[in-house]
Amino acid sequence: MNSCIFCKILAGDIPSKKIYEDEKFYAFLDIFPAGKGHTLVIPKEHSADIHEISSDQYGALAATAKDVADLLQRKLSSEGTTIFQMNRESGWQTVFHIHMHVIPRWSDDALHKPWDIAPAVDSDLVELQRIICE
Ligand code: AMP
Ligand code: ZN
Repeated sequence: MNSCIFCKILAGDIPSKKIYEDEKFYAFLDIFPAGKGHTLVIPKEHSADIHEISSDQYGALAATAKDVADLLQRKLSSEGTTIFQMNRESGWQTVFHIHMHVIPRWSDDALHKPWDIAPAVDSDLVELQRIICE
């Protein structure tokens, strides 16, 4: 995966601000941060997205993101944490090496929810439930 920028970071060909590393995962500061301490957690083995990675690997990635969230909360005294994980272009992914965004949060920070809150139509939910579960 020579063209993947996160693989290049892992190879040391692109610099990064590492904050955590173990045998299988690597975490570094995002260079276009949504806020202070915005960190990306990636597996060292390349997978493009959630639909490609195995459930076990995804679980281990999420567990690492939890440890990184705890580390950031401890060191930055953040009040909350938001985790994002985008998949494929339609899911807002721009770097196609799976990663979890771990974003320390404060009540007075500048982040907004990326969707408009409006109540669902109950019959739509019933129909969706039928389609998904049948
Ligand atoms: P996504 O839109 O979920 O694919 O997120 C990709 C993230 O990678 C964005 O938040 C970018 O700011 C971040 N990013 C891209 N290149 C680099 C880099 N060289 N070092 C650190 N973060 C990066
Ligand atoms: Zn990669």
